[in-house]
Amino acid sequence: MNFEILLATSNAHKLEEFRRILAPHGITLYGMNDLNMPLLEVNEDGDTYFKNAQIKLLALRKLTSFPILADDSGLELEAFPNLLGLHTSRYAKGYKDQKEANESIIKLYDNNPSLKRDATFKCALCFSLNDGDLRYFDGKMPGFIGKKATYAHGFGYDPIFISKEKNLCVASLNDEEKDAISHRGKACKKLLTYLKIKGLIK
Ligand code: IMP
Repeated sequence: MNFEILLATSNAHKLEEFRRILAPHGITLYGMNDLNMPLLEVNEDGDTYFKNAQIKLLALRKLTSFPILADDSGLELEAFPNLLGLHTSRYAKGYKDQKEANESIIKLYDNNPSLKRDATFKCALCFSLNDGDLRYFDGKMPGFIGKKATYAHGFGYDPIFISKEKNLCVASLNDEEKDAISHRGKACKKLLTYLKIKGLIK
């Protein structure tokens, strides 16, 4: 049994993570390039992660009747509630590279040592088979911002994020360990339950 889904993202890291989480369940996930889809030009101006995922899904639905999965994710810093969150991917664009963006966040806390370092990764998924029936699933990974970056695995803000569940930097976890506790892994678990109930996967 093989079920095919198009992922509404051009972020190669996210595609890779979604693929490795969903593939063992008989799901083939295509990226936009795999199906020769044009670059999605959408304004992610929703006021929630769900709304942004829905915006991406509905833009893509105009172009294909393929099953679509759209996502939106972000990192929320308790001490700086408006800094990242819905703008997480935009924040790093203000720096030379992701490493510099990561260092800038550590510096914020170095300059204010009494601040709470609590942070949460959030993931929202919007899924549609081939019609207007939209389904939503979410996941969270609680943690805090580390005092030093660890560059081993992962992408984005993984090097500065310590998982509360593991008490380890997410960039030091292997793929399987990250997927078991990550915001994306948890949201995908809910999606998989839905697809099983629908009889689309085993
Ligand atoms: P978006 O979901 O495409 O809007 O991007 C959100 C941004 O959050 C990404 O570009 C990453 O920088 C960051 N992000 C989301 N998930 C993760 C993760 O699992 N690890 C590290 N950074 C992440």
